[in-house]
Amino acid sequence: MDTQMLIGSKFEAGTETEERVLNPKTGETILDLPEASLAQVDAAVDAAEKAFDSWSATTPSERSAYLLKIADAIEKDADGFAALESLNCGKPINAVRNDEIPAIVDCWRFFAGAIRSLHAPVAGEYLPGHTSMIRRDPVGIVGSIAPWNYPLMMMAWKLAPAIAGGNTVVFKPSEQTPLTALKMAKLLADILPEGVVNVVLGRGESVGNAIINHAKVNMVSITGDIATGKKVLAAAAKTVKRTHLELGGKAPVIVYDDADIEAVVAGIRTFGFYNAGQDCTAACRIYASDKIYDNFVADLASAVSTLKFNQADDTENEIGPLISRRQRDRVESFVTRASEHAHMEIVTGGKVSGEKGFFYAPTVVAGALQDDEIVRREVFGPVVSVTRFSETDDAIAWANDSDYGLASSVWTKDISRAMKTAARLRYGCTWINTHFMLCNEMPHGGLKQSGYGKDMSVYALEDYTAVRHVMIAH
Ligand code: NAD
Repeated sequence: MDTQMLIGSKFEAGTETEERVLNPKTGETILDLPEASLAQVDAAVDAAEKAFDSWSATTPSERSAYLLKIADAIEKDADGFAALESLNCGKPINAVRNDEIPAIVDCWRFFAGAIRSLHAPVAGEYLPGHTSMIRRDPVGIVGSIAPWNYPLMMMAWKLAPAIAGGNTVVFKPSEQTPLTALKMAKLLADILPEGVVNVVLGRGESVGNAIINHAKVNMVSITGDIATGKKVLAAAAKTVKRTHLELGGKAPVIVYDDADIEAVVAGIRTFGFYNAGQDCTAACRIYASDKIYDNFVADLASAVSTLKFNQADDTENEIGPLISRRQRDRVESFVTRASEHAHMEIVTGGKVSGEKGFFYAPTVVAGALQDDEIVRREVFGPVVSVTRFSETDDAIAWANDSDYGLASSVWTKDISRAMKTAARLRYGCTWINTHFMLCNEMPHGGLKQSGYGKDMSVYALEDYTAVRHVMIAH
């Protein structure tokens, strides 16, 4: 197992406090990893700075070739990456191996292609006697900070567009899930020139804080909590850094009376509970038409109760545990508080599961009202709420009545109704008759307090590059 950080071309251990890395399936310690010192963070930023001039001068074609090599190397070692991600996150091995790794490899390949075909207005004489052209140049040194729910995928989403765009990076994985980032550090050091990507370990308050406040870091990209995003913005204000914030969600799911209920139930069983609901787009806040409400809740409860988890044979598992005891306790406390209200009913789940590890039974809370905490706050666990509506305008108003603005979905057989609803929803993404489906060609990112900046797609390349105008008088 790789345990060392990557600073320039050197592999070294952190020199500060050790952070415990746990196996969420058992609660047992995998290993303790020391975090970086401030001097090591400085050294990583210096290495990125040193690499910047030559890396940013490479052609898109050259950078593309590097990204393709990275994609091939991950694909070649897909089983190794999947096993390590599964160990550190508790994810079912099949979910990582069959869903996540192919999407991660495709992300690197997508940006390898996309960087070679950026668009801009045509060069020309917009003022007589002057020729204008647009450049897209790298932003500089990017401080990149990832969460624990999809460690390897977030690394791909952040690194691929950043280095494709000619930037150099100091990357910090979550202190809870650093293992695949360290394996990636080895892989990247074998392929990329020294200093293009540096990987440092540590907690948010120490190492993360040092990165976001670093005077030489030009842009901070973070996926995490709203509270963390606000700290990044406050720090960025001091030196006017660019920021790219992906800050969670509470996705509304509007189920109209003419929806294919079987498809909705199957969809929420999958997309509300994938990754044990530790997903910022999880289909977790359902608004169901009162015409279908009772049957829908009964069918959903029965389908969700069949989700397989905590089986000895991991290939049978559909979902894993929560990432930590703290996260499981947090999820449990949300459900306990909901159950204390007479109008809400826990129709399936609602309990901690298993003697070992951090499992929580997949849960459906029915009868929730718009002002209930379970409807308003991000639980980030295997829990969905269902709220009854009778008027379309109420469903749309309630769906929009949230601090979050990342993802949403609408379920109906009437395409005109779907399109009208999609146009009124204030979310970065609206799916119609599905949820959660992502592809590297399309952007992912939020509105409102879910943050801004896009992952995946050419829009990410726009975020990681600066538009410049060059004008020639003649
Ligand atoms: P978190 O905000 O606690 O941590 C995210 C990362 O930020 C970690 O690497 C952490 O060490 C670092 N961090 C924490 N405090 C920091 C600080 N003061 N300065 C600098 N860095 C700091 O979030 P988490 O618990 O790891 O992840 C779960 C959250 O992430 C959820 O809210 C979830 O919705 C969100 N999320 C969003 C998306 C998205 O695409 N919008 C994707 C995944 C997760």
